[in-house]
Amino acid sequence: MQKGTINVQTENIFPIIKKFLYSDHEIFLRELISNAVDATQKLKTLASMDKFKGELGDLTIYVEVDKKKKLLKVRDRGIGMTAEELDKYINQIAFSSAEEFIKKYKGKSDADKNALIGHFGLGFYSSFMVSDKVEIFTKTYKKGGPTKATRWECDGSPEYSMEEIEREDRGTEVVLHINDESKEFLEEYRILELLKKYSKFLPIPIQFGMEKSYEKTGLKDKDGKDEYKDVEKPRIINNTKPAWTQKPADLKDEDYKSFYRELYPMNFEDPLFHIHLNVDYPFNLTGILYFPKVKRNFEVQRDKIQLYSNQVFVTDSVEGIVPDFLTLLHGVIDSPDIPLNVSRSYLQSDASVKKISNHIMKKVSDKLEELFKNSREEFEKKWDDIKIFIHYGMLSEPKFYDKAEKFALFKNVDGKYFTYEDYKKLIEPAQKDKDKKLVYLYSTDKEEQHAFIETAKERGYDVLDMSGVIDNHFINTLEQKFENSSFTRVDADVVDKLIKKEDIQPSKLSDKDQEKLKPLFEKYAAKEKYSIVFESLSETDKPVIITQPEFMRRMKDMSKLGGGMDYMGSLPDSYNLVINSNHKLISDILNEPDNDRQENLVKQVTDLARLSQNLLKGQELTDFIKRSVELIGK
Ligand code: ADP
Repeated sequence: MQKGTINVQTENIFPIIKKFLYSDHEIFLRELISNAVDATQKLKTLASMDKFKGELGDLTIYVEVDKKKKLLKVRDRGIGMTAEELDKYINQIAFSSAEEFIKKYKGKSDADKNALIGHFGLGFYSSFMVSDKVEIFTKTYKKGGPTKATRWECDGSPEYSMEEIEREDRGTEVVLHINDESKEFLEEYRILELLKKYSKFLPIPIQFGMEKSYEKTGLKDKDGKDEYKDVEKPRIINNTKPAWTQKPADLKDEDYKSFYRELYPMNFEDPLFHIHLNVDYPFNLTGILYFPKVKRNFEVQRDKIQLYSNQVFVTDSVEGIVPDFLTLLHGVIDSPDIPLNVSRSYLQSDASVKKISNHIMKKVSDKLEELFKNSREEFEKKWDDIKIFIHYGMLSEPKFYDKAEKFALFKNVDGKYFTYEDYKKLIEPAQKDKDKKLVYLYSTDKEEQHAFIETAKERGYDVLDMSGVIDNHFINTLEQKFENSSFTRVDADVVDKLIKKEDIQPSKLSDKDQEKLKPLFEKYAAKEKYSIVFESLSETDKPVIITQPEFMRRMKDMSKLGGGMDYMGSLPDSYNLVINSNHKLISDILNEPDNDRQENLVKQVTDLARLSQNLLKGQELTDFIKRSVELIGK
C-alpha cells in the first residue's frame, strides 16, 4: 500500500472546503457525474478511432444511495485510471487547482467569496464538502500495461492512501461517506431532484434506482379488458439525445413541440415557433429558442431559457447573460464556451458570453427575417403574438432595431399589415402636414375611438392599430428613428388639426360671437376638465368634438406604466371641447331667442361629443336620454 501526503503548500485545505463553501454544496454531484460522463465519452471517442478495441458494453452511469451505511456512489464504465494517472490527476493536478481556489478564496470579503465559489471549479474535491471520507475504485481500459485496479482513499486530512486491488470492471467508482451535516444527500428524493436539475440532458444514460410503472400485460381479463400489472424498470434520469443536439433536418415540427413539453411540463400551450441555433464559428453554440404564446394580459415569464455547457446544466437565470428581450423567450442554449463553474455575476462579465449573447440576437433576427421573406402570410398570422418580443427588442437593443426594421410590421385598424417602408409609401403625401412632416395616426382602442377613426378615414387618412401593451413606449422609439415624422393618436385633435394643412377655412363666427357662446358651454362643461376652443372646421364636421391632446395624454400614459413622473398620473384627464364655428347648429344656438331651448341645445351637442368619447355616464347619461326623447317629441 502506498501512503502519501497530498502536496500541501499552505495548510490543510479540507477543513476550509468543508466549513466555508456552504453556499452550493449540491454541485458536488454535478461535478462527479460530469467526470463520469467525460470518462465515458473519452472511451467512446477512443473506440471510434479504433484505439480501444474491447467491448464497450453497457455504458450507463449508476448513482446509488446506501442510507444505512451513509454512502453515495457514482459509478462509470469509462476509461478509468491507472495508479500513475490517479496519482497525477487526483493527488497532484486536481488537488493543486482546488488548492489554488482556496488560496484565492482566503482573504476575500464575503461578497467576493461568494463570487469566487462559483467562479472556480473545485471539481472532484468538492465532494469533501459533504463527505467524511472519499474512496475511488478505478481500473483503466488499457490492456497490456498494469491492468490491476487501484483504490484511493482520503478522509479529509492531507493524507491519502492508495493500494492495488482486484476489480472486475473497467471504469471508476467514487464512493462518498456522507457526513452528518449532509444527510440530505442520502435521501432519494433529494438526489433525484439534483439529477433532474443538472443531468436531465447528459449524453450518457444515468440510472438511479428503479421505477415502477403500471403497464399493459398484453393479455385480456375475463371481461375482455386489457390487463395491467406493476412493472419495475431501471430509472433512467436523462434524455441523452435532446432535440437541440440533433440535426434540424432530422426533426419534425412535432419533435420540437414535444421537446418543449419535456422542458416545461407545466406549460400547456404550444410555442408559436422555434429557432434552432447551430453555430460552429466563431464559437460553438447549439440550442433551440421558442417564441412562447403570450396571453393577452402580458403574463410573460422571464428566465425560462436554460444554459448548458456540453449538455451539463449551468443555470436558468439568464438575465444579463442574454439580451433582456430574449429572456422572454423559452428554450435551451448550449455552448462549451459557457464556463461551467462560474457564478452568474461572473458569467455576465465574461467576454465569450457577451459574444454569444450578441450572436444569439443576430440569429434570432436572421430567423425572423427568413420567416418574413419565405412565408409572409404565415409571418403576418403570427405577428400579433410575436410583436411583443420584437417591439421590446427594438426598443431595448439598437442593433436589433436595425435588423428588425426590415421585417417589423405595422397593422392598421382594418387589420392589414405593412412593412414600415410600404406604410410610409401608403400615407405619403396625404399625411404630410404643411411643414412636410409625416404624421402617423394611431388608435389605442378601435371601439372607443371609432368616431375619430371614421372621420380620419373620410379625409383619406390611414390609422394604425397601436393597442399593444408596450405600444406607447414603442411609439417613442419610432419617433426617434423615423426622420421628420410624428405619431398622433387619432382623437388627439380635430381631424384638420391632426395633420395641419396650409388652407385654413375662414370662420363663420366673429370673435364677438365666440365670446357670447363660450359662457354657455362653460356653464355646462366643467371648466377644470374641458378647455373650450373654437375651430374653423368644415361644415360637414361635427358641431362639437372632444379631443385629448397628445402630449398630456402620453405623459399620463407613461406615468401609469411607471415612467417616473408620478404626479402626472394623479392629474385629472384634460380634454379640449372643440366648437366647430362653421357648423350651422352652432350659429343656430347663437341666434336662439328661447333661453331654455338654447341651453338644451348646448347640453345636447356637448353630450353627443362626450358620448362619442365614452365620457357620458351615470346621472348625465340618464339626463341626456330623457332630453333626447323630449327633443324628438318636439
Ligand atoms: P476536472 O474534471 O475539471 O479536470 P476534477 O478535479 O474533477 O477536475 O478531476 C481531475 C481529473 O481526474 C480529471 O481531469 C480526470 O483526468 C480524472 N478523473 C476524475 N474523475 C474521473 C473518472 N470518473 N474517470 C476517469 N478519470 C477521472
